Amino acid sequence: MKLAVVGTGYVGLVTGVCLAEIGHQVTCIDIDEEKVEKMKKGIPPIYEEGLESLMKQNIQARRLFFSSKFEKGLEKADVIYLAVGTPQYPDGTTDLTAVESAAKSIAHHLVQDAIIVTKSTVPVGSNEYLKSFIHSHLKNDVSIEVVHNPEFLREGSAIHDTFHGDRIVIGAENKQAAAVIEQINQPLDLPLVVTDIKNAEMIKYASNAFLATKISFINEIANICEKIGANVEDVAYGMGLDKRIGHQFLKAGIGYGGSCFPKDTNALVHMAGGVDHDFELLKSVIRVNNQQQISLVQKAKQRLGSLEGKRVAVLGLAYKPGTDDMREAASIVVIHRLIEEGAEVTAYDPFAMENAAPILPQQVWFAKTAAEALHDAEVGFILTEWDQIKNLSLKDVKDLMKADPIIYDGRNCFQLDDVRQHLIEYHSVGRPSIA
Ligand code: NAD
Repeated sequence: MKLAVVGTGYVGLVTGVCLAEIGHQVTCIDIDEEKVEKMKKGIPPIYEEGLESLMKQNIQARRLFFSSKFEKGLEKADVIYLAVGTPQYPDGTTDLTAVESAAKSIAHHLVQDAIIVTKSTVPVGSNEYLKSFIHSHLKNDVSIEVVHNPEFLREGSAIHDTFHGDRIVIGAENKQAAAVIEQINQPLDLPLVVTDIKNAEMIKYASNAFLATKISFINEIANICEKIGANVEDVAYGMGLDKRIGHQFLKAGIGYGGSCFPKDTNALVHMAGGVDHDFELLKSVIRVNNQQQISLVQKAKQRLGSLEGKRVAVLGLAYKPGTDDMREAASIVVIHRLIEEGAEVTAYDPFAMENAAPILPQQVWFAKTAAEALHDAEVGFILTEWDQIKNLSLKDVKDLMKADPIIYDGRNCFQLDDVRQHLIEYHSVGRPSIA
C-alpha cells in the first residue's frame, strides 16, 4: 500500500521506517527541510537504536522516501499518517497548532480519497474536530476518513516496541477505514484493539497516566523507606512478583520526564476538569513528581549547608537512557536548581549534550567523558542510568573526584555493597545512605 507519514520526529520517523520494513511504500514528509535533506541520505535526526540501519536498508530498497513538499509526498497515498508534536501550553492544555497546520497542508494538497490516521496524542474529541477541520479546508472534491491509532512506543526501544508492541489500538467510526488500517498492520501480527475514536483517544491518556501513577507511587514508597530504614528495591521486587502489580514502572528514582508523561498527565487533568471532574489522584501524581525531581538537590543543600562554589558533576542529561531527547528531563530542573544555589556544574551525557546545550543555563560546562566531568568534582549527581554511567568503576570515580566525594544517585545505579567498599559517601533513592 502507498502511505505517507507527516511529521518525522520520534514517532513519525520510526513509524515510517517500520511500515516500509513490513513492505509498504512510504513517503515521510516534514516541514524541516534540513532534516529532510539529512534523512534522504539515510541520516536520522534523532538517536534511536537500530533506526539508522533500518532506514538505510529501506531507502536502498526504494520503499522509503522523504520530502518537504506535501504535493509530492501525498501523491497517490491511500493512507496518510499524522505524527506531528502535540506539546502543552504553559497552563497544561494541549497545543494543537502543529496538528492543525499539518492537517491544513494535507487538505490543501489532497487530490485523491484518503484515510488520515492520527498517531499524535490528542485530547478526547480532537479527532472529530480534525475531521471537520480537514473537510472545511479541502481544495479538491475528495472524501476523507479519520482513524486514530495512538502510539505506545518508548524512546530508546522504539523500533523494538513497534515490532513487538503489546497492542495496536485502532479507533474509527468507519468500519472499512478501520479494516484498511488493520490490513496495513497485519504483518506485525500484534493484538488489535478496534474501538471507536473517543475510546482510542482515552486509552492513550489513561495508559500514560496509569504508568505515571506507578512511578509516583513507588517514589513515595521510596521516600518513606528512606525515613524508616527500608530498601525500596527489595520492597519493589517483593511487590512486583505479584502478577497483578508486575515489576515494570516500579523503579524508584528522580521522577519521570520526557515528551509524554508530563504533558499527557496535565492534559488529562484538564480534560477531566472540562467535564467537571476533579482528577485528584492524577494531580497528586504530578505534584509528587515535581517534588521528586528537586529532592536530591534539597538533600545536598541540607547536607552541605550551601552549594555556593561547589564543583558538581552531573552525569546523564537525557530523560532516560537510549535517547537524546531532553524534553522535560529531570536534569533541566536539577541543573537550574544547582546553578541557582551557586554550584559550578560540569555535565556529561553520551548522546544528549547537543540537545541539552541550548536549554541548560549558559554557566554549565560540558565534558567529553564522564571521567572529565568527575575530575576534581566535590559532588556528583547521577540523573540518567546510561550503561556508560552504570558501568563506571567506583575506584575511578573516587580517584577522579576531590577527597571525600559525595554522590547523589537519582537512578540507583550502584550496589550499596560496592559503594561501601570504595568509601564514597552515597545517597540514592529509597535506599539507606552510605556515609
Ligand atoms: P517530535 O517533536 O519529535 O516530532 C514532530 C515532527 O513533526 C518534527 O520533525 C517537526 O518538524 C514535524 N512537524 C511539525 N509541524 C509540521 C507540519 N505542519 N507538517 C509536517 N511536519 C511537521 O514529536 P514526537 O515525539 O514524535 O511526538 C509526536 C506525537 O506522538 C505527539 O503527539 C506525542 O505525544 C506522541 N507520542 C510520542 C511518543 C514519544 O516517545 N516521543 C510516544 C507516543 C506518542
